[in-house]
Amino acid sequence: MAGRVVKRAFKYRFYPTAVQAEQLARTFGCTRYVYNRALAERSRTWSQEQRRVTYSDTSRMLTGWKRDTETAWLSEPSKGPLQESLRQLQGAFDRFWRKQSRYPQFKRKGHSKDSATYYANCFTYRGGQIRLAKQSEPLDIRWSRPLPEGCAPSQVTVSRHARGRYHISILVEDTIPEHPPTDRVVGLDAGITSLYTLSTGEKITNPRHERKDRERLAKAQRALAKKKKGSRNRAKARLKVAKIHGRITDRRRDYLHTLSTRLVRENQVIAIEDLSVRNMVRNRSLSRAISDASWSEFRSMLEYKADWYGRRVVAIDRFCPSSKTCSVCGAIASTMPLNVREWACRCGAVHDRDVNAAKNIVAVGLTVTACGDGVRPPRT
Ligand SMILES: [Zn+2]
Repeated sequence: MAGRVVKRAFKYRFYPTAVQAEQLARTFGCTRYVYNRALAERSRTWSQEQRRVTYSDTSRMLTGWKRDTETAWLSEPSKGPLQESLRQLQGAFDRFWRKQSRYPQFKRKGHSKDSATYYANCFTYRGGQIRLAKQSEPLDIRWSRPLPEGCAPSQVTVSRHARGRYHISILVEDTIPEHPPTDRVVGLDAGITSLYTLSTGEKITNPRHERKDRERLAKAQRALAKKKKGSRNRAKARLKVAKIHGRITDRRRDYLHTLSTRLVRENQVIAIEDLSVRNMVRNRSLSRAISDASWSEFRSMLEYKADWYGRRVVAIDRFCPSSKTCSVCGAIASTMPLNVREWACRCGAVHDRDVNAAKNIVAVGLTVTACGDGVRPPRT
């Protein structure tokens, strides 16, 4: 069976011990220091001598800083993250020279996300556990999904968010066998009462816990609204909202990974709706914003997984009146208010609103795949 070698990043939350947290904080401090000092050197050399400093120049500087008694503490953390910090700076300059971004900025404590990248020689992966260089304990990682069997991680990046959450992103090279071809196709409607509805009639509901979490979120938001601007309590309340929000997003992401993997395995073609404009006219409540963000994330999961496994995702035009068209006879109902969950067509077909929409989406999707891209369904 054909296989493709791809690099995949797997992201997990982890909980450092007090010792690890302290050591990571020092490492983050060092990566930030190295980045900022190298940036200052580059700027100075350019403005005073009109000379460009290269990555290897900065790498030599780093060796010098480590020998300098004043900055000898730079030799304490693993050297990998410091080198990577210089590489990131090089990347920032490359983008600047190609006119793709602004002049690199200093990293400010508490303002930019802290992160440190470790290459294969700076961490070990054994027995399902990851140990960073210079740490005796493995990281307490919440393995929300397994790493591919027998994979060898080539690099890991640990990061800390402003609200004190730690994540590790593990990069692995993986050989992905293409799925055997199938003639199954599916249409997907992003719904209101269900998360998604499939053209097979299956309804995908929100992940377990989400309703409870959302109630908590609403409560925390109400509490936040009552706090005085600029007060300590307000800051605390804001942190609480951010935490609950983060948990909802994390759980939903895991859930969408499972779902997208399954849909790609089961179907040759997955037809979805291009929601970019539909979203703009909807009201932007926070819960809506979560759904919308997860929709675009879900779409990209479907797309890259389809690409890995030799499947196809077709995003159909937003002008397709998928909710109003009868999937049996093609008649178009004149109106279809959002509160109508079930309706009967003149032809006698009785439709569940979302299932009918999903059926239309897959029908249009198949027309598009048959005719090539760029074909629009007729407008009403
Ligand atoms: Zn009909």
